[in-house]
Amino acid sequence: MTLRDRATFWSRACHDFTELILPTSCAGCGQPGIAVCSDCAADCAGEPFRAEAGARYFGRPCWALAPYRGSVQSIIVAYKDGGRSDLRKYLGLALAISLSAVVEEQYDRTGRSGELLLVPVPSSRSSIRRRGADVLADCARRAATELAASGIRARVAPMLRSGRAVRDQVGLSAVGRQRNVSGSMAVARRRLPIPSGKRRDATAGPASIVLVDDVITTGATLAEAARALAGGGHRVDAAAVIAATTKTSS
Ligand SMILES: [Zn+2]
Repeated sequence: MTLRDRATFWSRACHDFTELILPTSCAGCGQPGIAVCSDCAADCAGEPFRAEAGARYFGRPCWALAPYRGSVQSIIVAYKDGGRSDLRKYLGLALAISLSAVVEEQYDRTGRSGELLLVPVPSSRSSIRRRGADVLADCARRAATELAASGIRARVAPMLRSGRAVRDQVGLSAVGRQRNVSGSMAVARRRLPIPSGKRRDATAGPASIVLVDDVITTGATLAEAARALAGGGHRVDAAAVIAATTKTSS
């Protein structure tokens, strides 16, 4: 089953589940009786694109699946701040599709693909407390599971931690965002996890460190995450997000 086929699968599975146990409404459009309707599920399974303008501070390839608006925005907000943990499977799949573009790019460049080490942008302690979970890390774990089911080696490597508190980025200018997050992250552990699978597989490429986040705006947060990892001796290869505030190229 391809990653995109799985969007249909989850739409059907969620429908059955919610009808039986958990009366709810589509987090994207409000249609009653279903967690995510088929139209909104399709929005979470599009073609990944490079978030060029959004990555201007980040300076490395950043892949996104959808523009941050409409149903995708509503689903992300409902998952993060609306207590809709049932949406993790959709957003994990969306992130997995975005990550599949990193693998394709890596393969095109080197003729090989290695394991993806997914490093979530760290959430603040207050966010984790308020939400009751580290929702981004949970989404990244789901994405790794989806990738594994499609034969792509990936796993979550929580190598960053949040340092000082930052204010909400919403409403800040590009420069303001950069200043707001500057120095706000630190390396949680310096050693990379030991590669999984066939460690002596000569056909496999080197592991790639890929930052993952839910949304990219200016890339200031990803740039700060890359800076923190570089301080620990780790070079970030790329980033993948679910949505970008502006779709600039495909
Ligand atoms: Zn919908």
